[in-house]
Amino acid sequence: MDSLWDLPDFDEHELVHFVTDRESGLKALIAVHSTHLGPGAGGCRFWHYAKSGDAVRDVLRLSRGMSYKNAMAGLPMGGGKAVILADANRTKTPEMLAAFGRAVEGLGERYVTAEDVGINVADMVAISKQTRFIAGLPAEAGAVGGDPGPHTSYGVYLGVVAAVRRALGKESLAGLHIAIQGAGSVASGLARRAAKDGARISIADIDPARAQALADEVGGTVVAPESILSIHADVLSPNALGAILDESSIAALNVPVVAGGANNQLATPADGDRIHARGILYAPDYVINAGGIINVSTEYLKDGDEAKVRERVERIPGRLDQIWDESASTDRNPAAVADDMARRLIGRG
Ligand code: NAD
Repeated sequence: MDSLWDLPDFDEHELVHFVTDRESGLKALIAVHSTHLGPGAGGCRFWHYAKSGDAVRDVLRLSRGMSYKNAMAGLPMGGGKAVILADANRTKTPEMLAAFGRAVEGLGERYVTAEDVGINVADMVAISKQTRFIAGLPAEAGAVGGDPGPHTSYGVYLGVVAAVRRALGKESLAGLHIAIQGAGSVASGLARRAAKDGARISIADIDPARAQALADEVGGTVVAPESILSIHADVLSPNALGAILDESSIAALNVPVVAGGANNQLATPADGDRIHARGILYAPDYVINAGGIINVSTEYLKDGDEAKVRERVERIPGRLDQIWDESASTDRNPAAVADDMARRLIGRG
């Protein structure tokens, strides 16, 4: 195996912490990419990796992604991420979560943890008994916190409106056809708002009942999951999985705008060039989907109320416009422009 420093995803990470707790059986990795803007914030993923090297790659890549996302969201937070290496049965015990919490506490606020895939709110509450460096806990009435999904959804909606204004010269979604991949938390908030504006909605989900329920609620149409990426529409909004935009799916796109909340939509950096070369306006995923982390950061730093969170989320369209302006004037793809802007913000330009 290559040494850690030689891995392609190693990007001068400030800290990579290997955790082994013999008593609980916990094996985890905590990576802090940058603390230039503040504590390295990012969720903890609980996942069974076929090879431990995959966990190393994941934590390196995801922590760098959080540096970029937090910087572009204007937050006083750096980027970090943790992964807990689950066994094949995904055994999760209170002792493991406690050991993870102690490891986070031991890093003295260089890393701030939150929820990610495989970790739920009850797990967060358990971890919070061991560390102060945590966000994403259940919100008390009137306080900031809880499910980040609705905030992500609101930012995605605002980003879709901004993209439509730029690409189609329209001030509203009224009469437009919006194709949405996924019918989960982020997708459903977008569908409701877009339908209220008078848009026509097509929805695909691998869970047909979920797609149907959302379509019924917003007066939309269900589309087969294999058709949604090539449907003729005004906007494609990916809100399900990552790596969906590759050479063949980009060639088949039948929309002028791709703007959605799914993380890591581009399969490779070259796909950012491919979508740009087709003249399709792309909203960089980590910029448009920052509403959730804005909520989490406001909860952690206690530096605002619900109205402040909203105001911060409402800055997302302005950031997208800045990226698209630079993309237009340099003819570089928006994803690459966003990465460069983020690197400048974290002092690595
Ligand atoms: P969710 O689990 O609520 O919904 C995801 C939906 O996608 C599910 O209904 C699932 O059945 C569906 N799906 C999976 N594979 C599919 C496929 N091939 N075709 C169509 N549908 C498929 O998740 P969510 O919280 O709405 O998140 C959606 C995306 O947004 C994810 O990529 C997530 O990482 C990203 N994201 C979410 C947040 C947040 O605050 N929830 C924040 C930032 C980014």
